[in-house]
Amino acid sequence: METNALTEIPTGPGPLPTLSVIVPVKDEQVAIGPFVARVTAVLDALVAPGGGCEAWEILFVDDGSQDATLAAIHAAHRADPRIRALSLSRNFGKEAALSAGLDHARGRAVVPIDVDLQDPPEVIGEMLDRWREGFEVVYGVRRNRLSDSLPKRMTADLYYRAHNWLSSDKIPEHAGDFRLLDRKVVEVIRAMPERNRFMKGLFAWGGFRQTAVEYDRSPRKLGETKFNYWKLWTLAIDGITSASTVPLRVWSYLGAGIALLALCYAIFLVVRTALFGVDVAGYPSIMVATLFLGGVQLLSLGVLGEYVGRILVEVKHRPIYIVRDTIGGD
Ligand code: UDP
Ligand code: MG
Repeated sequence: METNALTEIPTGPGPLPTLSVIVPVKDEQVAIGPFVARVTAVLDALVAPGGGCEAWEILFVDDGSQDATLAAIHAAHRADPRIRALSLSRNFGKEAALSAGLDHARGRAVVPIDVDLQDPPEVIGEMLDRWREGFEVVYGVRRNRLSDSLPKRMTADLYYRAHNWLSSDKIPEHAGDFRLLDRKVVEVIRAMPERNRFMKGLFAWGGFRQTAVEYDRSPRKLGETKFNYWKLWTLAIDGITSASTVPLRVWSYLGAGIALLALCYAIFLVVRTALFGVDVAGYPSIMVATLFLGGVQLLSLGVLGEYVGRILVEVKHRPIYIVRDTIGGD
């Protein structure tokens, strides 16, 4: 069995893998119980003789819940000590919570999954099979997105296209955070220093042997979504600005194009004045040119600001998350 130089944690598919399931949760008191029941059954079947898995753990990351989520997790831990948890000091967002989970998971294979059971945990068995075949990342791809509303599907489509067009690190379309990561991949992601944790982008950048398993995504049955359109928009900006500098550079080309047009227009004006004399009309055209250029300048300044803001966040070097408590050991 090989070991990972960074951590001395054994890596690679061996005969007796240990699986960590990490679950970020924010205000999910009603969802914890049903989640634990269903996932525990699936995982127990995997550790049964012939299942090919030595042991498992479920690691909840309580992302600053305001309701009784933590109490529900405590109860689950008392009933089954293989259920552990981290409790963050406030709401840091799902990406940061996932980072916390990756930092504290002990497994040689790690599977992030949402608590709402939209992603069927039964697929984990299939993921383990692919992992044993030698794949280091097995991501789940939604066969259909019928569980999402039409506007959400359309904006998601648009986002994946824009991201993959602008960035050289392609993210697989319709793959969420539900995936299996080998310990090697987890260590690489943990070693990435950035504060902006757009996980799908980090996974894509890391490379490794990747494969997909398809599954049907069901609608959320308990609790409600934590992502409104504004949060999704912010996430999209995070994703693109962390993966691509095209939005920064495009303005030079636009500026060059406009300058060239202006030069042509100037030559045309000189020639026309020389041939036909002066006429002083032209207020509308001046307004149009001024407003257009003003708009373009503000827009490009705004884009610059996005990136400068991100640099500020990075250089501050604050921790990505703060753990208030751990349940069931570090
Ligand atoms: N979540 C989190 N922190 C947040 C928002 C959400 O840990 O600030 C968790 C949430 O509890 C759930 C997962 O992230 O387990 C996915 O959230 P949700 O199902 O609301 O997202 P959607 O499926 O609607 O995109
Ligand atoms: Mg969900």
